[in-house]
Amino acid sequence: KAPQAYEVKELGGTPEQEAYMRDIIDQFTVDTNYLNQIRDRFIKEMDKGLEKDGATLAMIPSYVEGRLTGKEEGHFLALDLGGTNLRVVLVTLLGEGKFKTVSSKSRVSDELKIGPMRNLCDYIAECVDTFLTEQGLEEQETELNLGYTFSFPVLQSKINRGILSTWTKGFACTGATGKDPVLLLQDALLRKHVPVKVSALVNDTVGTLLSNAYNKPDTLAGLILGTGANGAYIEKMSKIKKWKAGKTTSDEMIINMEFGAFDNERKILPLTRFDNKLDRESINPHSQIYEKMISGMYLGEISRNVLTDMIDRELLLKRDEHTSLAWSKDISRHWSFETAFMSNIEADKSADFISTKEILDTNLNLHDITTTEAKFIKKICELVGKRAARLAAASIAAIVEHTGAAEKGCDIGIDGSLYEFYPSFESRMYDALEEMLPEIKNLRNTIRLGLARDGSGVGAALTACVAARMEGGK
Ligand code: BGC
Ligand code: MG
Repeated sequence: KAPQAYEVKELGGTPEQEAYMRDIIDQFTVDTNYLNQIRDRFIKEMDKGLEKDGATLAMIPSYVEGRLTGKEEGHFLALDLGGTNLRVVLVTLLGEGKFKTVSSKSRVSDELKIGPMRNLCDYIAECVDTFLTEQGLEEQETELNLGYTFSFPVLQSKINRGILSTWTKGFACTGATGKDPVLLLQDALLRKHVPVKVSALVNDTVGTLLSNAYNKPDTLAGLILGTGANGAYIEKMSKIKKWKAGKTTSDEMIINMEFGAFDNERKILPLTRFDNKLDRESINPHSQIYEKMISGMYLGEISRNVLTDMIDRELLLKRDEHTSLAWSKDISRHWSFETAFMSNIEADKSADFISTKEILDTNLNLHDITTTEAKFIKKICELVGKRAARLAAASIAAIVEHTGAAEKGCDIGIDGSLYEFYPSFESRMYDALEEMLPEIKNLRNTIRLGLARDGSGVGAALTACVAARMEGGK
């Protein structure tokens, strides 16, 4: 299908620039028809993953059985590893769907991310210890229960046991894959005499679903659209064909889809040469292909790949030779164009692109960007950002179709910086959903997307709570 006509002339570019932009628009545009095909393939992959182990969509049973009522109460500790920050959270469930949290956060250095797992676990134990002291909880009589949100693909075997299958999002600690992250952390806590018991292991998507469900009982799914991307939803036990772990206390279970790996075999996603470059240069080539097109860790880098290509073709930042070289120094650096810049550039509504120019100036030393150049850069951000939102929406359309939720309606809890802060991300997702699900009238009130803030923290606490309930029920 022909891409929508584009007002490239209004950007005031040269014929060469216009031709280039037309081609880029063509490559980054995903029309309704294409989206539908992606959604259909997604549904097939879901079925495959439910049927057997080792499928592209891992479709991992979370061992979280049943739903929440919102009446749950108590104090729980939660730990959130796998986004930009490491967080320790004290969650107090107040019943009536309400909760309170106190938390501390710290950055995980690049060194820790790729060093020995033991060092990372020691660091985490240290952070937990400090937090307990700050909160006056270090002298507890009984061990505190902790829900561990470990946001990587873990094949679970119990609510507090699992095996890390692979790292994602720039993590690559040695001595961790094939091992149980709960045991590794518990050991570190013991080494430091921190009186905490890791009682639940939970993916952030599962946590997000649970925390959303705590006050929205019609919650069907939880998504993370942040540094990484993934989703979890509630499935009927009878549809989880690969389930062999015996009788459960409920006829439903939350499934962690690990959908970042969707289309790792590159059968359907509209990969451009810019995506391929990013993948090749990443720490995990050939994996998490879908995640690399839709999540915050990568969107800036895709845009940067387009921008540097334009620079190489002398379609952008062309001054005299000397200035061009000096100018492109920062933008030539891997990861230097952050997704947060895209977010701010897309938010720029000023006639003269003042804030776009300012962002480029302060962060990348691009001092004299012309208005035309700013327009091009903004357009590229828009293309990459919009494609991400539309592709991400395909996963929701697939979940809705697969579960037959269209009729009754449902809530979808979403957490993550992209969803929370990126302008128009949500409305672009809704637009795409309306295109893919035209039979749903009043879609925005039927498939209700909503921010599940701190899904990872509160969700882990709720999982610890479910763990206790399941224990009691057996
Ligand atoms: C991980 C998922 C996680 C997602 C969002 C992905 O890279 O594989 O387990 O849910 O990021 O944090
Ligand atoms: Mg998070």
